[in-house]
Amino acid sequence: MARITRLVAEGKFYKSGCWQNKRRQILERDNHECQHCKTEGKFSLATCVHHINHLEVRPDLALDDDNLISLCDGCHNREHPEKLADIEPPANAKTRMFPERW
Ligand SMILES: [Zn+2]
Ligand SMILES: [Zn+2]
Repeated sequence: MARITRLVAEGKFYKSGCWQNKRRQILERDNHECQHCKTEGKFSLATCVHHINHLEVRPDLALDDDNLISLCDGCHNREHPEKLADIEPPANAKTRMFPERW
């Protein structure tokens, strides 16, 4: 487990073989189906495996089945508002770069 924590700290976790294996295992467990959409009665193909307790917060749960859930892109983005916040500033910055002059 100490090894995993180190991989997380070094930012190499998602490239590690043990994550690739675990990810495949979780997608198979969830039938490659987004588990959020499923609760709303919709079907979406899961494209990623999300850490319910985020990896940065609980690296010790990095490979814990109960902490992993298959999600589609849309649901996954909603689980990470911090990532969307990262995307927005450039758009604002752009309008600020070309101010209306008249
Ligand atoms: Zn979904
Ligand atoms: Zn996630």
